[in-house]
Amino acid sequence: MEEFQVKRTIKRLEISIQTPIAKTGNGAVAGGKVNNLMLIGTTKGEKGKEGKKYVVKGLRGWLNHAMMALAKEMGVEVCHTSEKTESQKGEPLLPEGFHAAGKCLENGEECIKHRLMGSFGKQSKLKFEPVVITSKACKGKEDEEVQQMHIATEVRNALAFHTKKAIQDFGERYFAGTFTLRIEFRTKLEAEELGFLLKSLLYAPEIGLGAAVNNGAGKMKILKVALQEVVRERTFDQKGRVVERERVRNLWKEMQEGLKAWPKKVSA
Ligand SMILES: [Zn+2]
Repeated sequence: MEEFQVKRTIKRLEISIQTPIAKTGNGAVAGGKVNNLMLIGTTKGEKGKEGKKYVVKGLRGWLNHAMMALAKEMGVEVCHTSEKTESQKGEPLLPEGFHAAGKCLENGEECIKHRLMGSFGKQSKLKFEPVVITSKACKGKEDEEVQQMHIATEVRNALAFHTKKAIQDFGERYFAGTFTLRIEFRTKLEAEELGFLLKSLLYAPEIGLGAAVNNGAGKMKILKVALQEVVRERTFDQKGRVVERERVRNLWKEMQEGLKAWPKKVSA
């Protein structure tokens, strides 16, 4: 039995998400669309098969938009993702019910979203762990952090109007299946902050992720959310290798209390 040298206790949300199809949007116009899969290398899989590893991008932005939509639904003013209030021509950019990102902090009335997500002026309380995925059967044994999903490319043709003549061919990469997202809390969350975060997650399936959302892609179903207390300990073994131990406890009661705390009940 090792004696552990360092120890840290954190809280996090572990979220299980299923998507029938989510597209990356790496279409015909390079740089013209949001790319939600970022290639970060290859991994040696079973039978020596090489698999590409990707980071799923856009998850933080997805939650950001869910928070905005939920707050609007509940009549609560929160930060918009934009810091600009008007365009260069002086046209207003902010929809009703929102203030520019970080404006609430300047005014000394920090909104619930800013308390969680921060802005340039203040760090977020939430740290999103990168979701690294690889194609099924390509998961390397040494790569515990990599999740297996179905990843493929749909080849599409853009046809000239009223003809069968292809004017451009392009591939759109997509992924499908179930993955786990972990959001670590950098500092303690107040009950109402936790409640707003949990309810935003419940709201998030209403909002698609990534490209081709209008064509039915990017559907995200949240299967399960667990609030966890994690105790992480590390030490060295006799060869100097780092040995890590993680103990996890689910905090269902605290989750319930959070859900009750936001939005605050206004007494009649
Ligand atoms: Zn705000």
